[in-house]
Amino acid sequence: MSSIIPGAMLGLLGGGQLGRMFTMAAQSMGYRVTVLDPAEGSPAGSIAERHLCADYHDASALHELSTTCAGVTTEFENVPADVLRFLEQHCVVSPPARSVSIAQNRLLEKQFLAANGFSVAPFLAIQNKDDLSTAIDALFFPGILKVSQFGYDGKGQVRIHTPHELSDAFTYLQQQPCVLEQLLPLACEISVIVARGFDDEISLFPVAENQHMHGILDMSIVPARISAGIVQQARKMATDVAIQLDYRGVLCIEFFVLTDGRLFINEIAPRPHNSGHYTLDACITSQFEQQARVLCRLPQGSTALHTPVVMVNLLGDLWQSGEPDWNKVLSNPNAKLHLYGKHEARPGRKMGHFTVLADTVEQALQQAEAIKVSLK
Ligand code: ADP
Ligand code: MG
Repeated sequence: MSSIIPGAMLGLLGGGQLGRMFTMAAQSMGYRVTVLDPAEGSPAGSIAERHLCADYHDASALHELSTTCAGVTTEFENVPADVLRFLEQHCVVSPPARSVSIAQNRLLEKQFLAANGFSVAPFLAIQNKDDLSTAIDALFFPGILKVSQFGYDGKGQVRIHTPHELSDAFTYLQQQPCVLEQLLPLACEISVIVARGFDDEISLFPVAENQHMHGILDMSIVPARISAGIVQQARKMATDVAIQLDYRGVLCIEFFVLTDGRLFINEIAPRPHNSGHYTLDACITSQFEQQARVLCRLPQGSTALHTPVVMVNLLGDLWQSGEPDWNKVLSNPNAKLHLYGKHEARPGRKMGHFTVLADTVEQALQQAEAIKVSLK
């Protein structure tokens, strides 16, 4: 099948910061973008050529996307899979509806991974109150009860120490379908962004080491400070997941490195990922440009790293006494600032990020830490 040529209109489901960075990458290659997002003034909707401010199921918005866009992609993993299925009948869609329907549901995702032989934390489905009584196996405690759908940034999760805490936790999570999983002893967390094209070409971005604060990604360190053996295993597992899912597009695999050195998959995100933002400044091709290339059936770009890099998220908490002084970031000539154009800063809300590039990971980390401290 032929490529989608620059100048064409591309559709984007979701208007958040991931979509904004996709839109910028697509526009810089000459494409135009139509965003479908129910919110006014969204980060992507405000820079795209066109913003359809409507629900994802809105019939006239979907008609417009399907008749004016040569290809449609997503930036938001909770786009209803039936919307993607509808669009697949009219234009190129990446990622595929089937992959998204698995990745957007923790239970289906864990069942898929386990069935295909990937290591995941021992888990149990908690769909209703009756399932609570089956969760008495010591294997799951201490554990974490997670809602199956719509959880993000550590939201929709409760840590559980003993079986009798489970019922309260399930009530707290409003008895939504959940997954109970064993709390694993982590040495560190890493992620791999993988792209798989319609021609089966696969590219892998360098492995990122991720540090979280209160369940939200705080910092990504690249290259990850882990052994070559674990890097190789993570790359192999990421490749295999993309193939087994018959994925077409950009996918993130989050891993747990256990204290005994074993590698488990935590979760998969069917889209570019916060832990891949470093690729904008530090790789020949960013995760967002790769997303545009795959969607448009163009050859993929090199994922090679220019230099070691550290990415730090900027959360709304920093805005407590007004706009932060960005000179504190920009006075380091090796730092790059990215802000997402969000109008309201709320605690925990991702407002932007910065990256620091340096000759060594240690130097990048030290400079990033110094900037973080100065911003506080
Ligand atoms: P989210 O969708 O919010 O990113 P995750 O399932 O990735 O949810 O969990 C958020 C963070 O909580 C993880 O990055 C990790 O730090 C911690 N966590 C989640 N599950 C486990 C587990 N089974 N064992 C240890 N830590 C965990
Ligand atoms: Mg996660």
